Amino acid sequence: MFDPSFKISNEPQSHCSISLPEPYRFDDTEFWRAIPAWRDVDSEAFGEFRWQQRNSITSLPRISQVLGEIANPSLLSDIKAGLLRARMNIRLTPYVFSRINWEFPEYDPLRRQFLPLGSEYKPEHPLANDDSLDEEGSKVRPHLVHRYPDKALFLPITLCPVYCSFCTRSRVVGGSTAVKSKSTYGAKPSDWEESFDYIRNHPQIEDVVISGGDALLLRAKHIRLIGKTLLDIPSIRRIRFATKGVAIMPMKFTSDGEWMDALAEVATYGKRLMKEVALHTHFNCDREISAWTTRAMSALCEIGLIVRNQSVLIAGVNDNFSVLHQTFKGLSSQRIQPYYLYQHDMIPGCEHLRTTVHLAKSLSMKLQGSMTGFNTPRVVCDAPGGGGKREISSHLLYDREIGVSAWSSPAAKPGKTFLYYDPIHLLEKEGKTIWNNPTEIKSRVASIKSKALDRASAFV
Ligand code: SF4
Repeated sequence: MFDPSFKISNEPQSHCSISLPEPYRFDDTEFWRAIPAWRDVDSEAFGEFRWQQRNSITSLPRISQVLGEIANPSLLSDIKAGLLRARMNIRLTPYVFSRINWEFPEYDPLRRQFLPLGSEYKPEHPLANDDSLDEEGSKVRPHLVHRYPDKALFLPITLCPVYCSFCTRSRVVGGSTAVKSKSTYGAKPSDWEESFDYIRNHPQIEDVVISGGDALLLRAKHIRLIGKTLLDIPSIRRIRFATKGVAIMPMKFTSDGEWMDALAEVATYGKRLMKEVALHTHFNCDREISAWTTRAMSALCEIGLIVRNQSVLIAGVNDNFSVLHQTFKGLSSQRIQPYYLYQHDMIPGCEHLRTTVHLAKSLSMKLQGSMTGFNTPRVVCDAPGGGGKREISSHLLYDREIGVSAWSSPAAKPGKTFLYYDPIHLLEKEGKTIWNNPTEIKSRVASIKSKALDRASAFV
């Protein structure tokens, strides 16, 4: 069990649990009291995961209610218009909701990730795809994706404690919306056995990602069952639980003793078998880091879990060097290893959030050498159509005028090529004009495909 009275302070180590140098002493104020409905909530209540779950924001009327006198009617009607087009429902923990700067919500990087505005939307890219990574094409069991030779993706649940506008699995995660019907599912252990059997029968699989949805919503007994079952499979060397929890409900790690005990048991079991048990989390910008992050990470360090971070490059959230650098330095200071920075997937409803490959490349160049190597994330494009993660500069060719890059994937799909398309609204005038001419764009893309295939053959 973990000590809920944990304090972060500038005092010497003997007087406190953790002492951090100045740049890494993150916000430890009672920031949530700026939200009228939570003015009287003390840090003990706010730090309870059950309170966070009970008070999560799941509707527009609830937003208006908690904001009370600071609610801006024109913003609320803009959110209402956004929700009519959104593929993800509203769900924010009070922690995330109160990290938003409600004085200037239009520009806030957290608001932008969870509460889309009608005024932000851009016309859909003609090649946006519900299942842009073709996960369904690599599904070997209803809850299991097997694309890379030695790795599998296990999806035991499609529910999350927050819903992100840019979710790459918006086709299944988080319940139906006005524009998208979904077959969301909760955790049901009897449905998992066929996935475990598949992994047992495919000894080339060494690595399993437990994702969804979010592993944070798995019960303690599910964490134990999944963790131990997978670790008991002789070929498995590594497992990782994927959860946004550290970023959006850090209180889970300090106040849900039963759940943490289960995670600790799995971590210890892994250590005994000399197998890796890790947790992969998901911060996108430095505003998501606070003293609550430090508390959560202290608890996770205590049980010896490796924690890595995967970010998505999102326009208006982290599409500049300074935010990325501060985010990755901040995460590293908390023993969260920045692992990937993803080019935004080509899913519908996200044109306002995507950026160009050119921008991702230039950010990658600036990040390299700006911090220690093992804390510098790999900037990757998850190649549409199932090519897997490709280094951002490893494209076979890139026609910047029409914003089309071509990739190959010799390990996952030898002999095939994959195309990524920049958002049309970010192209120069000439590129936009070409996209308005169906014959011309067809022939330009066909020529890129054929040149890319030629080049790809060199890597087979
Ligand atoms: S937490 Fe992850 S799976 Fe859940 S909505 Fe966000 S991006 Fe999607």
